[in-house]
Amino acid sequence: MDVGDGGFGEITVGGRVRLLGPGVVPAEAAQAEPLYVGEPAAIPVALPRQKARAEILSVLVRFPSGAVHRADLAIDDEDRASGSKTIEGVVSAEAGELHLFTTTRNDDGSVAQKGFVLQVRTRGTVQMYITPSFWTQSGVAGAPKFNFSLGRWECHAAVRWVNSMPMLVNLARRMTVRMTDAGTLVGTLAFDLSGPVTLLPGQTQYGTVITFHAPGSADFEIFRNAGDLTFEYSMSNDGFTPKDGQVWRTMREVGYNIIRVGDFTAAERAEYRRAAAEIASGIFRSRDMTVRGVELFRIEGTPEMEADKQRFRFIDSEAEIDELFSRYTMGDNAFLDAFFVEGMWDGSAGASNVNGPVDKQGPSSGILICRDADTVNLGQTFAHEAGHYLGLEHADEEDGCSDTDPASPNISDNFIFSRSRRDSTVVTGCQIDKMRRHGLVTTLTP
Ligand SMILES: [Zn+2]
Repeated sequence: MDVGDGGFGEITVGGRVRLLGPGVVPAEAAQAEPLYVGEPAAIPVALPRQKARAEILSVLVRFPSGAVHRADLAIDDEDRASGSKTIEGVVSAEAGELHLFTTTRNDDGSVAQKGFVLQVRTRGTVQMYITPSFWTQSGVAGAPKFNFSLGRWECHAAVRWVNSMPMLVNLARRMTVRMTDAGTLVGTLAFDLSGPVTLLPGQTQYGTVITFHAPGSADFEIFRNAGDLTFEYSMSNDGFTPKDGQVWRTMREVGYNIIRVGDFTAAERAEYRRAAAEIASGIFRSRDMTVRGVELFRIEGTPEMEADKQRFRFIDSEAEIDELFSRYTMGDNAFLDAFFVEGMWDGSAGASNVNGPVDKQGPSSGILICRDADTVNLGQTFAHEAGHYLGLEHADEEDGCSDTDPASPNISDNFIFSRSRRDSTVVTGCQIDKMRRHGLVTTLTP
């Protein structure tokens, strides 16, 4: 544990803060009840007093989480008689400001627009929400940034505090961040924000917090080794202890060598590079891993290699695969060896053992991919065989993953389904967790 080390935070007070008293809503939506997290609310919107006949109420809701929802509601005679249209079933998952923009569309083509801000509260609490400033490509985890000049990882986040109490609450300056890896405590950071967080009744306040992760710390090593860390941010003062959790994830990468065995045209050579760089990489990017083409090799040039080229260009048996992998290894780099051949005796698109060796020695030290004029299929095969090498069994077999159900009607969409198709691209959380622990997978930045 490295308490009190490596953390830093700052808050911005004022500026974007908007204050509405508890239960107070804008005059235009004066009949609205206060909104509470997780509770469906009905929000009446006054229709404009006008000669034109109002027909449609278009509604755009921006929730405190940032999610946006649109709807078009028909205005009926009853609404026109009462002078208002009620938006039913508005449920927010988070406390904070809910922005409502309405457009009334009239039968003569004219429109009238209004905007409201409503406070969403949590009954009897003070809450803190953490939102990463940068997201990984999959959009489900925060992306740490590597600060090259200072040689450390940084996790930048926006913070929102919401006081749903009818009293002033002072959370003071101290913030604590517990970092866990798959449930195991890795370290704790504790630091002071640049000022105290003091919240008036009903107030929402905004700030930023940045944590630093320097070499020598367990958290730095986990980010470097391509792991996830779950942060629990908390503050505690005045009898309130708001907390929020966030997963941070460094982008992962697996490099590959392309080794061609046989005669391929220039167009085919360009195609298999594209299949790896675009199709296979695209499949893995959905889970924040990318593949990177590193070196190109070919087995030819010496009498011995020419003989091997003739022997291995078309693979006739399992034994030949083992022999090819044993004889050729790009041993001076830590990248996956991908052998492109002209075909296989059993018509398979490719082959790989499960959990190939990190040292790339022996009969399992490579993946095999066959000539295929369908670039998408070729890239799918590349991802599928690389998945095996990085530790995965077929999704529809005993794979030790609870999120791959062999009985699921969609299992054939999984990229490592036993008879995967060109459009089998799903990678599950368990699968990426297994792959990222393979020794050939590294972090994209140092
Ligand atoms: Zn397979």
